[in-house]
Amino acid sequence: SYDTLSTRTAVVTGAASGMGEATARLLAAHGARVALLARRAERLDELAAKITAEGGRALAVTADVTDSGSVAAAAARIHEAFGPVDLVVNSAGVMLPNPITEGREDEWARMIDTNLSGALRVIRAFVPDLVAAAAEGRTADLVNVSSIGAHVSFPNYAVYGATKAALTHLSATLRTELGGQDVRVTNIEPGLTSTELADHIDNAELSGQLDGMLSAIGALAAEDVADLIAYTTSRPRHVNLRQLVVLPTRQA
Ligand code: NDP
Repeated sequence: SYDTLSTRTAVVTGAASGMGEATARLLAAHGARVALLARRAERLDELAAKITAEGGRALAVTADVTDSGSVAAAAARIHEAFGPVDLVVNSAGVMLPNPITEGREDEWARMIDTNLSGALRVIRAFVPDLVAAAAEGRTADLVNVSSIGAHVSFPNYAVYGATKAALTHLSATLRTELGGQDVRVTNIEPGLTSTELADHIDNAELSGQLDGMLSAIGALAAEDVADLIAYTTSRPRHVNLRQLVVLPTRQA
């Protein structure tokens, strides 16, 4: 059962859509207080209203994870409203594939700054809360949403895959640092999932290729990944599912 989530205070990045939104809703449905982080204020306000209407507790906090000041301001607002948090989900991410020969430094910078450095800024802002919660005997979780792209190589996705491989390695290493302090670190690597992620691809051929894959093999729903996050964060505190790989059944 997910009952223990009712005692938790969570921060979910990328909560404006996709996995982050689904995770925030599910955690809130099980009674957690949830801070919603992303750049689109309207989306966050809508989600917060929906969660509240469903009887949950949510706080919309507009923030850009590529901006240290923005993350620090978001953390201050969350601390003021909720106090310290004990569950952090890094779901904010962008996927901008292109042939490496295109040399799209703008896209490389955005992916590295969001998927890797963005997660690090959020980790810096909230890991002290997690360590303190665990020291008081409470359950504390850091969940990073990486990708199967951390392991499987796809042409034209070199930089995206590199950011996800880095995030997966970061999770594994942080576990060696935080596990001894009773903070769990969980790295989730989903395969194809139906979200807004592909909407930002700036290459018609690669967009078409991804659409083709989606119709050929299908996709996970964002809710499927949210369910795993709710599952892993509601285990007894001595149990750490450290690495979850989840694929649509037809994805090789
Ligand atoms: P979405 O595009 O639906 O969600 C990504 C979220 O990140 C959005 O809500 C977006 O909101 C937010 N975001 C993007 N940039 C920033 C930023 N600079 N600061 C704060 N928030 C930001 O896609 P998914 O739900 O699919 O993506 C969630 C995670 O899952 C990503 O890390 C992605 O790489 C990973 N993933 C996705 C897979 C898939 O097939 N969909 C497969 C494997 C992993 P806003 O624009 O309002 O800021």
